[in-house]
Amino acid sequence: MLQSRYFVPTLKEAPADAEVISHKLLIRAGMIRRLTSGVYSYLPLALRALSKISNITREEMNRAGAIELLMPTVQPADLWQESGRWDYYGKELLRIKDRHDRDSCLGPTHEEVITDIVRKELRSYRNFPINLYQIQTKFRDEIRPRFGLMRGREFIMKDAYSFDRDDAGADASYKTMYEAYRRIFIRLGLKFRPVEADTGSIGGNFSHEFMVLAATGEDTIAACTACDYAANVERARVRYDGTRDTTPPPPYTAVATPGACTIEEVAAFLKIAPEAIIKTILLDVDGEPVAALVRGDREVNELKVKTFLGANQVFLASPEQVTAWSGAPVGFAGPVGLKGVRILADAELQAREGWVAGANAADTHFINVSLSRDAAISAYADIRAICEGDVCAVCGGAMEFPRGIEVGHVFKLGTKYSKAMHATYLDENGKEQFVIMGCYGLGVSRVLAACIEQNHDEHGIIFPPAIAPFHLALLNLDPKDPDISAKALEIHDLLEQQGLEVLLDDRDERAGVKFKDADLVGLPMQLIMGGKSLARGVIEAKDRRTGEKTDLPVDTFLQAFSAWKDRVYKGWE
Ligand code: ATP
Ligand code: MG
Repeated sequence: MLQSRYFVPTLKEAPADAEVISHKLLIRAGMIRRLTSGVYSYLPLALRALSKISNITREEMNRAGAIELLMPTVQPADLWQESGRWDYYGKELLRIKDRHDRDSCLGPTHEEVITDIVRKELRSYRNFPINLYQIQTKFRDEIRPRFGLMRGREFIMKDAYSFDRDDAGADASYKTMYEAYRRIFIRLGLKFRPVEADTGSIGGNFSHEFMVLAATGEDTIAACTACDYAANVERARVRYDGTRDTTPPPPYTAVATPGACTIEEVAAFLKIAPEAIIKTILLDVDGEPVAALVRGDREVNELKVKTFLGANQVFLASPEQVTAWSGAPVGFAGPVGLKGVRILADAELQAREGWVAGANAADTHFINVSLSRDAAISAYADIRAICEGDVCAVCGGAMEFPRGIEVGHVFKLGTKYSKAMHATYLDENGKEQFVIMGCYGLGVSRVLAACIEQNHDEHGIIFPPAIAPFHLALLNLDPKDPDISAKALEIHDLLEQQGLEVLLDDRDERAGVKFKDADLVGLPMQLIMGGKSLARGVIEAKDRRTGEKTDLPVDTFLQAFSAWKDRVYKGWE
């Protein structure tokens, strides 16, 4: 491809509204342009990169036995009313009316449409299992569209839906998709981690998010450095090692702690470590009072409390509720003598006796508290947030907390949609059964942004070969010299015959501009040719990732190039 005849409108400066690096670089490299909030045009280079991401995704989905189709963008409201999501989905669902005043929406996802197809067309047990997918444009009216392609309102997603006869089949479909996702992200050349995510009411290990690791990611991951265990930090399990000091302390007594209502204030006042204090957090769990106890230096994880109690909603108690339930102002609640409140204690609180805890009276704490002796604990459970220093709940290895960008999500749906929309089949005995579903999303356009967040430097993008819009940039530094231009074209054609995609910068521009643009666009390989290097009998090759330069002799060019290319690609493995 001749760059002079192509369309790569690079820019020196990023627009002021671009906050993250991928957004800045996608605009500066001439890959995207904003049409309106969260809506972008994909210019030719971006389209090529997106096609590569889609094609790898498609190949691996097909290999995993999934079947591609394409569903409409506009969806009628009645399907969404049937599933119950017309009301539930909220403002992210862009609703429209047609000329007959009928309600419709722009599809943010396609569970309703696919379930409608399957319930009408597939009626026999012989039709299942089946996994159907599409690569299609989605619309979500995000409350805060931002970061360019990372959180758009209009974006490209690959979404797949599996339908199975029974639970075991659905679990197998889930595992097949999980493995397909692993292969996709490995082939794309991205550093990633599959992490356990919240399954809501489904339970089990049947929701994973695939995270591209990048310092700028919105999500924090708790990841083991020794084994495969990784989870969303909000969900990461904490292991209590079982150590126990059961020496009974002397009877508990009240001490005055005037005005000391935070852990730090109590610790400073009593000259003790925060670890010796019990933090008591009062929660409103589906309207019922619950006290969650953790060590003073820990935080209560409300999601874990919610999951443990199988609750729908958990709120921090209001100051009025705290006073009503504990009989004291905020800051003095404790487990001893707390009446009418269910008390959940973090597992780790079994490790010792002789705690300091609130006394349920203003300006007062108890010392020498024994939870087993002095309090009515309804259960010990893992209810605290994981933190620095905790070890892996699976293997005991050291944990780290990298940041990541969610690019994919695999999820077992169970019968949520098949029950709501009555999607059934007839089993071997002619008996009607609900199909069991799974859904599997992959953000194609977000992958492009995440790839850049992970792979860039101060000069621009550094594309992994699998995603790069072209394989290499060929820079002709002397485009006015007919001999050199002829030679450049010859090299261009030669490489294209080898199956490589070459962007030949034949523009009438200074060498400095070409170097800058080539680094900005970030194709993994650069070949630089001009009068000076040709006089030495070489073409200069630059590995964009390492910056390393190599002279390739013109005489044995193809051979030298192929060895160099192998080295560049190997560096990406
Ligand atoms: P998020 O928590 O980031 O809002 P989500 O849970 O809403 O994501 P899913 O409904 O699981 O996302 O969608 C599947 C995939 O689609 C996500 O993993 C992500 O890669 C992509 N995606 C979701 N929302 C957007 C968006 N606004 N812009 C770009 N990609 C998106
Ligand atoms: Mg979302």
